[in-house]
Amino acid sequence: METMETAAVNRSQMKVSDEVAIQITNMNKWYGTFHVLRDINLTVNRGERIVIAGPSGSGKSTMIRCINRLEEHQKGTIIVDGTELSSDLKNIDKVRSEVGMVFQHFNLFPHLTILENCTLAPIWVRKIPKKEAEETAMHFLEKVKIPEQAHKYPGQLSGGQQQRVAIARSLCMRPRIMLFDEPTSALDPEMIKEVLDTMIQLAEEGMTMLCVTHEMGFAQAVANRVIFMDQGQIVEQNEPYEFFNNPQSERTKLFLSQIL
Ligand code: ADP
Ligand code: MG
Repeated sequence: METMETAAVNRSQMKVSDEVAIQITNMNKWYGTFHVLRDINLTVNRGERIVIAGPSGSGKSTMIRCINRLEEHQKGTIIVDGTELSSDLKNIDKVRSEVGMVFQHFNLFPHLTILENCTLAPIWVRKIPKKEAEETAMHFLEKVKIPEQAHKYPGQLSGGQQQRVAIARSLCMRPRIMLFDEPTSALDPEMIKEVLDTMIQLAEEGMTMLCVTHEMGFAQAVANRVIFMDQGQIVEQNEPYEFFNNPQSERTKLFLSQIL
């Protein structure tokens, strides 16, 4: 199995607290008549780094999109930072600002500069003064190691750089939880590492993270828990070593045999 140089990962700051960040109870979702998520139960404590794996179409994206209410569930409950997700608009704004999300396709605004991409939501949603928003944006662009790109447009950057901007943009909203949906899947191989390094840095700083990814080296180095989904269900979950070396269900074994 391909593994990342785990020596580079400092796990000392990656502490899992007793405090619950996300609590999902008997959650079900349908797209029309299609039952896409079935009885999902998942408790995420603050500081956890969870990797979500599973075949295409198993409901991974739908599940994490429910956590910041890009999708609505129909049955069961989702509580994020103590707020139950409901159709109440106030709840949604609060949750959205506390939960950052990074997608496979970076979804930057092409007609705005990197800096403007990073300050748009803080200024218009969080009502932060422009100067302060720009200072915060520069702080996070430095953190993802591309401050010199601040005045360029997304189209002038490489895919890896754009994805790091997308991460910085999320961080500008000061989220307490970060969701990643296949953040490296659209990148050329040589750019994957720079994005994973940024995610590792976040993990080292104690961010609560849920990552849908096929990067199993990242899962082994950073995750404290790997969740395997198939056909809309959580089939199995375990700490990474056990998950990869001692999978329990036939579906997990089959999946691992295909990807490793
Ligand atoms: P994954 O991320 O694991 O590949 P998804 O959550 O994207 O899976 O999709 C789960 C299932 O739901 C798939 O069968 C997909 O075709 C279906 N699906 C996803 N989005 C929609 C939608 N907006 N409307 C109807 N079906 C959808
Ligand atoms: Mg997906």
